[in-house]
Amino acid sequence: MTLYENNVPFSVGSVGIRSAFPAIASLRAALPESVYLWVNAYKDKPDYYTAEDLSILSKIDPHFAVNAMDYESLGQTCNAGNEVFYVQGAGLVKRCYKDRGVIGNLYLDGLEGLSAVRACRMKVCDCYIGYIHMPELKLQDIYGSGLLERIPYGAMSH
Ligand code: SF4
Repeated sequence: MTLYENNVPFSVGSVGIRSAFPAIASLRAALPESVYLWVNAYKDKPDYYTAEDLSILSKIDPHFAVNAMDYESLGQTCNAGNEVFYVQGAGLVKRCYKDRGVIGNLYLDGLEGLSAVRACRMKVCDCYIGYIHMPELKLQDIYGSGLLERIPYGAMSH
């Protein structure tokens, strides 16, 4: 609430595991209405959610359905490795959390030298921090400049 009162944007959410539903509901109730609460779909177990679960979580996070899906990404254009990078401590640069291929070294090549539009090499992209960089999904239209922080347009305004 200190952040909210001082107009400092913050990102708030939870993994939507069933045992956390009561805590997610109470968090939703405690937050001001204009603060968006994201729910990350739990995907470790196939067909985890019932229709009722999906309805409950979609009422809390209006964008839950976007996250609950996996995206076929092989061969698709993705801005990971172009506009965003996955950098490991020693300076290894990869394009994203999922593709383990090393595209260069932060200190030797610099990110500008490594930046390029590339097609995805993975079969599916299933995590928010990845698929948001697929231009065809047009998620900029929902999140605008809050894309990385997962704060949609219009959220957090008093
Ligand atoms: S679509 Fe996903 S898996 Fe493929 S490069 Fe982009 S972030 Fe990585």
